[in-house]
Amino acid sequence: MRRKLRVMLAFYEAAPFMKTGGLGDVGGSLPGALKRVGIEARAVLPKFKTIPEEYKAKMKFVTELYVPLGWRNVYCGVWELKWDGTVYYFLDNEYYFLRDRAYGYYDDGERIAFFSKAVCEFLQYLPDFKCDVLHCNDWHTALSPVFLREFYRGIPLYDNIKTVFTVHNLKFQGMMSDYVLGDILGLYGIPAAENQLRATKDAINFMMGGLCYSDILTTVSPTYAEEIKSAYYGENMEGIFRRRADVLYGILNGINLNEYDPATDPALPARYSVKDLSGKAVCKADVQKQFGLAVRPEVPLIAMISRLTEQKGLDLLDAVLEELLDQDIQLVVLGTGDPAYEAELKRIASHRPNMAAAIYFDEALSRRLYAGADILLMPSKFEPCGLSQMIAMHYGTLPIVRMTGGLTDSVVPYNKFTGEGTGFRFMNYNAHELLFTVKEAADICRNRPKDWEKLILQAMNYDVSWEKSAKQYKEIYHKLHPEVTPYTK
Ligand code: ADP
Repeated sequence: MRRKLRVMLAFYEAAPFMKTGGLGDVGGSLPGALKRVGIEARAVLPKFKTIPEEYKAKMKFVTELYVPLGWRNVYCGVWELKWDGTVYYFLDNEYYFLRDRAYGYYDDGERIAFFSKAVCEFLQYLPDFKCDVLHCNDWHTALSPVFLREFYRGIPLYDNIKTVFTVHNLKFQGMMSDYVLGDILGLYGIPAAENQLRATKDAINFMMGGLCYSDILTTVSPTYAEEIKSAYYGENMEGIFRRRADVLYGILNGINLNEYDPATDPALPARYSVKDLSGKAVCKADVQKQFGLAVRPEVPLIAMISRLTEQKGLDLLDAVLEELLDQDIQLVVLGTGDPAYEAELKRIASHRPNMAAAIYFDEALSRRLYAGADILLMPSKFEPCGLSQMIAMHYGTLPIVRMTGGLTDSVVPYNKFTGEGTGFRFMNYNAHELLFTVKEAADICRNRPKDWEKLILQAMNYDVSWEKSAKQYKEIYHKLHPEVTPYTK
């Protein structure tokens, strides 16, 4: 039979509704990209209090239902809104989601279990969408495949549903007291679930549910899909990845080029494209002015736009920061995270005229920095995919990355013999390798403007769109439903 497969993607974050990091970017752009390659994709996320009013005002009420959660029967409102050509559903429960933040509450386990269960339950309330594939993302939705199997098996509508589970970040797994197993999840006394979710004698792990129960596993780059089979990157899940290696795929994320485009981005003081780069110099001067740095076009301006955590290589930066700032370069760090790194960056910035530390989250500023900087620093310890380096390349800012995960797969290293490349890479998690790579890049930027411009153009022309990846997801969905012939436009 030839038709479009119906895929429901469950996300806890989807920009512009909710975003704390890369997961939000993917949630807001993958469903639309799938739609464009011939998948009937829709997405679902919680109706958070913090969703901007302009979107809430446009949402339409769909229905209401009750979600069984352990001994509870919990209200769930369903709202919908069209975004990027697809339908987004918002699951509403004010007790769980009318809060100032998405994470960080004592009852996160219960809130997230509710969301995962509500995702399963609400699928039967969509008469025009008989779901073929439920595609879950990260630990927040990892329980949905468990619930589907344990509570919904035998119901024809649900028996048709295959599951895909994508790991965006293995660091966050949802470890909970095993008290929730019976009281909240209702899985007590079901041996398959009890065994496969159990992490320690008295703790369960939500992500293990997704990893063990889903039909296909994916992660967000081919290199990371290999890395997580080893103990160094596997975060104690490497055994499962090795066991399930035959259903584990690595598919690189893309970015939404309508959203991130230096030729149209309204956040920029001047716009530019591969045809005319002159606006980029205006963006650079604007950043230098805003942060009180010397307005000098020739000095390499380095940006770091990142969560300030160990994952992002902050300890490497910390170890060589003073030495780095002794060079004729400028550095702007935009980020929030670990208070120790925040304080250290502020301290150093306060006595270094060539450094600024912006310790807050600011989407518009991040775009002005991607445009205004010459170099983006991303020395991650591990990086499942990473979006910052892709956004940077698309804005003609050359990334310096450590070779790990998606950074290896998305940045073509500078080759001094052929002039090829879209950025710079270093191999080992070593602060001086980082420093030497920055020196090399800064030297080209400062002294060889022609070569630098060639690199900028190569980076901007590099394909960071979703198209190729969306087609790979499409292939995977069709593997799960061989009876349906792919629909091509
Ligand atoms: P991760 O998801 O691990 O945080 P990614 O590189 O995949 O890392 O995605 C990070 C996203 O968050 C990028 O879009 C980046 O621009 C954005 N971001 C990170 N920190 C900030 C900040 N302080 N202000 C604005 N945007 C930020």
